[in-house]
Amino acid sequence: MKQGWEAVIGMEIHAQLATASKIFCSCAVETGGEPNANTCPTCLGLPGALPVLNKRVIDLGARAALALGLEIQETSVFARKNYFYPDLPKGYQISQYDRPFSANGHLTILTAERDDHGHAKEWQPMTIHIQRMHLEEDAGKNVHEGLPETDKYSYIDLNRAGTPLGEIVTSPDFRTSWQAYDYVNHVRRVLQWVGASDADMEKGNLRCEANVSVRRVGETEFRNKVELKNLNSVRFMQKAIEYEIERQIEAHEKGETVNQESRLWDEKNNQTRFMRSKEDAHDYRYFPEPDLQPLVVSPEFIKKVKAHMPELPDAMRDRFIAVYQLSFADASQLVADRELAEYFETTARITANPRLSANWVLGELTRELNNSGNMVGQSLMTAEDLAELIKTVASGSINNNQAKEVMAEMFATGKPAPEVIKAKAFEQVSDTGAIEKIVDTVIAANQANVDAYRGGNEKLFGFFVGQVMKESGGKANPTIVNEVLKQRL
Ligand SMILES: [Zn+2]
Repeated sequence: MKQGWEAVIGMEIHAQLATASKIFCSCAVETGGEPNANTCPTCLGLPGALPVLNKRVIDLGARAALALGLEIQETSVFARKNYFYPDLPKGYQISQYDRPFSANGHLTILTAERDDHGHAKEWQPMTIHIQRMHLEEDAGKNVHEGLPETDKYSYIDLNRAGTPLGEIVTSPDFRTSWQAYDYVNHVRRVLQWVGASDADMEKGNLRCEANVSVRRVGETEFRNKVELKNLNSVRFMQKAIEYEIERQIEAHEKGETVNQESRLWDEKNNQTRFMRSKEDAHDYRYFPEPDLQPLVVSPEFIKKVKAHMPELPDAMRDRFIAVYQLSFADASQLVADRELAEYFETTARITANPRLSANWVLGELTRELNNSGNMVGQSLMTAEDLAELIKTVASGSINNNQAKEVMAEMFATGKPAPEVIKAKAFEQVSDTGAIEKIVDTVIAANQANVDAYRGGNEKLFGFFVGQVMKESGGKANPTIVNEVLKQRL
């Protein structure tokens, strides 16, 4: 950023709550269905239809709120947000206005600026103030592509109408695009972690908007802000914010006005472009929703939800560092995904060797997962099976390269370690009696070298080790071979 300037950025995230049915009716929530198949009088907005609140929305909303450090309000109120749009047949969206479901959140994230290659410089904690997360219904979708005569007609698919959303709004706390980027990733991960939302931006079940303005360092007032909309990946969002900061600074320096407007990210040309002016913005009129009671959440309910919350990723990372003595980087990588973290922990507990377990999970297992495009939850190889393999390597009965080969087979077939090791005939001979026999044969066949060794040529020891290994077909346990040879010679 140009010296003397700072950016002021606030974020709004719409997260689809992972319910099976819609927020005010029992229609199914699913993607890719026949257009308008999942609709009923309520979500079509037909006169006389009444909304009934889906209790699962409150469960998942509460989990999301707690994961984001928000306070769940004892009473919240649904309101009608009035505007006209073809994908909103009722003429209003049921949302929440001055009495949101949750408010006053404090969320600590880790953030870092990036170098030119996108590598993080120094990770630092930053506390974000989340003003609120309210509950609301989604609108339908206008379809302008893939159907006949879209030059003449617009089509409307109301399958999405009535899908439950949590809208998460921060204060304008962010000063750089990377802070916003790290924040959105943090929110995505904790929502997935607690099962509140699939939070998949590609599928559209997490959408974010950034409000961006700039000002001279030291100024306390805000200048005009631009709303960046329809950002469909976190990376595009970061680029759009970055571009927008530079564009606004340049305009201010030239003495031009930065208009309050909505802009889109133009991926092809790597720039933001004008979408609509704030003067065209809807003047929403909110009215309390007369068909729904105020939502009252008891302290007992909140207690119950808290009791069923999993350990959150940051707490788990800190515990991995403290209990298993993992590095910050390794622990952070493990908690990037809840299933991976749990997989590691099961492995570490069985092997009682967390360091080696972390190496295998972050090394070979992660490599196999990346190659196959699978998540760890889909892995045929269980954590218990991997632990068995790690124990076998640690005991020295197979070596590291053999173990990697065994793991590849276990990963591909789901067979347990002993079965694969047996089939590959990798098992080392650790039977001292058997090794003694081979050693005796080797000594008898190389009497001249034995005399030379006993005469002081200690370098010959390696020769004997080599001979014994060769006789055993490479399977003798080297530690035992060394012991027996020292005895016999
Ligand atoms: Zn419906």
